[in-house]
Formats: sequence, structure tokens, C-alpha cells
Amino acid sequence: MDYVDKIIADAEKKNADQPEFLQAAKEVLESLRVVVGRDSVYEEVGLLERLVEPERIIQFRVPWVDDSGKVQVNRGYRVQFNSAIGPYKGGLRFHPSVNLGIIKFLGFEQIFKNSLTGLPIGGGKGGSDFDPKGKTDAEVMRFCQSFMTELYRHVGPNTDVPAGDIGVGGREIGFLFGQYKRLTNAFEGVLTGKGLTWGGSLARTEATGYGLVYMIEEYLKSIGAAFEGREVAISGSGNVAIFATQKVQQLGGTVVTMTDSNGFIYHKAGIDLDAIKEIKLINRGRLSEYTKFHADAVYTDVADGKVWNTPCDVALPCATQNELDLADAKTLVASGCKIVGEGANMPTTLEASIYLQQNGVAFFPGKAANAGGVGTSALEMSQNSERLSWSFEEVDAMLRRIMVDIFHNIDNTAREYGKEGDYILGANIAGFKKVAHAMLDQGII
Ligand code: NDP
Repeated sequence: MDYVDKIIADAEKKNADQPEFLQAAKEVLESLRVVVGRDSVYEEVGLLERLVEPERIIQFRVPWVDDSGKVQVNRGYRVQFNSAIGPYKGGLRFHPSVNLGIIKFLGFEQIFKNSLTGLPIGGGKGGSDFDPKGKTDAEVMRFCQSFMTELYRHVGPNTDVPAGDIGVGGREIGFLFGQYKRLTNAFEGVLTGKGLTWGGSLARTEATGYGLVYMIEEYLKSIGAAFEGREVAISGSGNVAIFATQKVQQLGGTVVTMTDSNGFIYHKAGIDLDAIKEIKLINRGRLSEYTKFHADAVYTDVADGKVWNTPCDVALPCATQNELDLADAKTLVASGCKIVGEGANMPTTLEASIYLQQNGVAFFPGKAANAGGVGTSALEMSQNSERLSWSFEEVDAMLRRIMVDIFHNIDNTAREYGKEGDYILGANIAGFKKVAHAMLDQGII
């Protein structure tokens, strides 16, 4: 049994109840075979054993009182996975599906993603099984205040800087920041994704979706092509999906689908983003309402169909993990899709991503393709440190630079290891190397 097989076997034994974490860990470890096989130092210092074990896991009770006066209790988590290259950084997810395995998978991915941005940020992730859907603003506020009443002991601008993720947007970050400030009496950059009048960065809201599209634009440029005239299928209708759609439209592409957890819309004429923003960002409503704005659009319930049956040139899954499986990959290839870029974290199953790569699809893994969000969060941290605010154009230009650099980094790394076009391998190895060197320098900790 070689070193990587041993680590995988140990991880399977220790984390048998965490399928998402094992899926993410195995994908990375498989890519690292060629690296650790070349140099015995990694095994000598137990580097992979340490890499797959979080530095710290915090799990806590979050009691709060709902509007009817009833006490509710949720579970809160923060996984501080790896701080070799900087303070832990990664979002908070509020969704009923959240459990320790999901937070560990997200925290693990974050290590490599953050490394790829080229900025000094370590990997972490947190969240709760709290469901903000259907809750009043007052209930969300009380929940966030209770969550931060425990979390504040474990975070700080030089220790751990959370951001948003599914179910955590500007409203939640505001409530969390307010409570942190009240508890610590310190106005400091402990969270990113803040409001623009109290330390937030311009372009942070747009960053993940824009960044995804910048990376694919750079790839298209490298093959002498462009977004102009291409049909794009997007899943999700939250932060990432909305701003990916906006950037595709600005670049001349047509986005024909969006989804939420109930169903999806297909609009051949192109998605009307103003309608989506009104439904999702203002009314916090359901996508099914879109047909009230456009009678020529078709809404399909998830029970009746799948969004990936939509013919498209480019597919951008931007909702959640494992939403594009092998059957979907086969459908996409059969209908002529040539590019898949992950806006969400691990939306494609392992078998599906391999199938796509083996069938001529340029596949961009989330840890590279959606790194613009955390990259811009790191730019927000820099602005907070120097107590200055940069213009939208400045931040957007830095974001584009980050995404272009990541594309060339993963492309060159794949070539260096004889696997041209394998951006999964390129991202995993390029992300790993920087973290591994820092861990080697810092001794056995
Ligand atoms: P939002 O909460 O803003 O939006 C999530 C979208 O995905 C919603 O349309 C939601 O539908 C849908 N969705 C969520 N869970 C499910 C599910 N189980 N099944 C079907 N649909 C679902 O989140 P974000 O846009 O911020 O995040 C989307 C993805 O991008 C996540 O994987 C996140 O980890 C990743 N990501 C986000 C970053 C960011 O900066 N925000 C950065 C990097 C990655 P509904 O409205 O019905 O809930």
C-alpha cells in the first residue's frame, strides 16, 4: 500500500459517516500521488496525515427564541482546518442539510482554493443547520446574535475571518458583525461581505460569479474563442448564480436557465436578471414566480425534470454540492456542451467530472473557478487593515487578475505533470504545493 492509499484508508476508517468530506479528500489525494511519490519528505513528516485532519473543530449549541416565544436550538460549527499560509478564512453556511461532514468538506476545499488565490489566507468553514427560509428578520437576528455569542471567542481579524455562503448574505453578516462588536468592543475586520458603509468592499457581492466567468473567458481566449453568442445553463439563483449571469450577459452570452431548490426556469430569449433579483433578492420568493414576468419562459418542478437536460455550450452549476451527476454529464456531452465551470463547491460528482474530462469537456473545479469570492474577501481584509476603501474598478481589476493568474497556474501545473487540460489535477497540485511548503517550514505542528 503506498502513502496515498494508506491515507485514504485511514481517512475512510475515521470519517465513515462523512461522505462529502471523503469525496473531497479522495479527489485531492488522488491528484497528489504524483507529487508525494517524487519526494519522500512528505511521508517522513506525516504531511498528508496532518493535511486531512483539521487543526481545530468547534461545535456549539445555538439557542434562540422564535417570534411565538418558543425556544429553538440549532447546532453551530466552525472547522479551522489549516492556518499554514494565513488566518483561517471561509464562509458560514446556514442550511438544514449542514452537518460536520459537510463543513469539513467545505473547509478542506477552502485550503487549496485560498492558496490558489495567491493571497495569505488559510482554510476554514462554519455554519449551522438553521434554515433562514420562512423566518422573520427578527428571528434571523436573534439566531445570528446567539451564534456569534459563542463564535466570537474563536475568531478575529488575525485568527479566523468568516464570510457568507448558502443562506448567509448581507443581512446575516450585518447581524453577526453587530453582535461581535458589542461583545468585544472592537470595530475590526472579523467578517467579510460587510455592508459598504461599515467596512465592506465594493465588488465583493459580485466577486464569485464574476470571477467564475473571468476564468472561463480566459480559457476561451486561450483557444481563440469568446462568450459572444454562446448559450449558458446556470443552476442556482442565489449570489453566485445571479452575478455569473450578469457577467455572461455583459460578455455577450445568453443565460437560458436558473434553478432553486423547487425547480428551474428555461427562457430561450435569455434570463431577465431584473426579474430574478426582484423575486430572489427583494421578495425572497420562489423561482416559479418568474413566469408572471415572462409568459414565454417555462418553469419545471424538480420532480418533473432536470436542468442539465437543457442544451447549452457552457454549464455553470452554482447551487450546491453533488447537483450534477454522471447521468447529467452524459446528457450534457450528448447535447454538445463543451465547458463546465463549478460556481458552487463540489457541485459535480467525482464520476461526472471524470466523464466530462474524458469526453472533451473543459472542466473547471470549484476550488479554482469560484475562488474569486474568497480572493475578494482577502482584498476586503486588506482594505480593513489599511482603513481605506478601493473603487469598484480597482477591486474588479484585481479580481480579474486573480482569476486569470489562477487559470494559467492550473493550466501550467497540469502541463508540468503531463496532464494537459486536467484542471482538477492542476488546481489540486498548485494549491497543495504552497501549503505544503509552508507546513514543511513550520515544523511538526
Ligand atoms: P445562496 O444561498 O445565495 O444561493 C444558493 C442557491 O442554490 C439558491 O438558489 C438555492 O435555492 C440553491 N440551493 C441551495 N441548496 C440547494 C439544494 N440542496 N438543492 C437545490 N438547490 C439548492 O448561496 P451562494 O450563491 O452564496 O452559494 C452557492 C454555492 O456557491 C455554494 O456551493 C457555495 O458554497 C458556493 N460558493 C459561494 C461563494 C460566495 O461568495 N457566496 C464563494 C464560493 C463558493 P433556494 O433559493 O431554493 O434555497
